Amino acid sequence: MTGLHTIYLYDDPDSQGLDIDYLAGYLASELARVEVGVRTDFITHHLGRFSEEERETLEAELRKQLEGATVEALARAQEPAITELTGDTDLQEMYAARPLQAAMRLLIPQEETDMAQLHIIFCSELVGELDVQSGPSLDTLRTLQTGVAALGSPTIISTSGLIEAPKRPREYYFKRTQYLMLGADEHLDELAEQFADRTVAYGDPRLNELLKGYLLMAVIYRATGDGACSEPTCPLYAAQTQQELLEAQAGPQSRICQRHREILNAIGEPLYE
Ligand SMILES: [Zn+2]
Repeated sequence: MTGLHTIYLYDDPDSQGLDIDYLAGYLASELARVEVGVRTDFITHHLGRFSEEERETLEAELRKQLEGATVEALARAQEPAITELTGDTDLQEMYAARPLQAAMRLLIPQEETDMAQLHIIFCSELVGELDVQSGPSLDTLRTLQTGVAALGSPTIISTSGLIEAPKRPREYYFKRTQYLMLGADEHLDELAEQFADRTVAYGDPRLNELLKGYLLMAVIYRATGDGACSEPTCPLYAAQTQQELLEAQAGPQSRICQRHREILNAIGEPLYE
């Protein structure tokens, strides 16, 4: 099993309701032999060790990398003829997972890059995968997959992705469209309330509970290279809908499956005894 010995969790001041200390405590309780450290937000933390002059150079480089990592920039690189992506301002703030991870990796000091250390960054921006197979057209953008977690080094977990990526019930969308068409916006709050036990919204008090499984996923991925679990009651299940998300992470049946329990228990054990 892996020699993982330290996990760093980076706070994100823009993620409303995120309780980094609570999540670190949870992770530490599941991983008896792993040290879990809490740090301020990723960029502030890592820029802190540089002089002001170096910081300026790094910030400029980082800004360039981040601009190139937005979904909009990647779409344009594939299809330079696209001069306007009308109305989709979101795309400028949505990052493609791999280039975003690469940009963040630049800031991790050499001595913290080995496989025994895992960096997990929370962010409020949306992170997705641009499907480069589907051809250089605007359709490419429509097949874009929004995700919750980009696993790897570093792992990036999007708190907005947690809300946006898993689908709400079809009935919810149906009613919402109806209300919007009728101009009955005043019913939208009611609608949110009506579906509260099956949907998740921004500011949801269950946010931290729902993030736990994605932290475990980051750890399991580092240890075994495996992604999500196939058991819908395991917090490592990759929920496609919000209802599945709630059931896997916080439902009455929610429980780490035996296979993942064994892997988690073995993590941090010395490689040779
Ligand atoms: Zn499992």
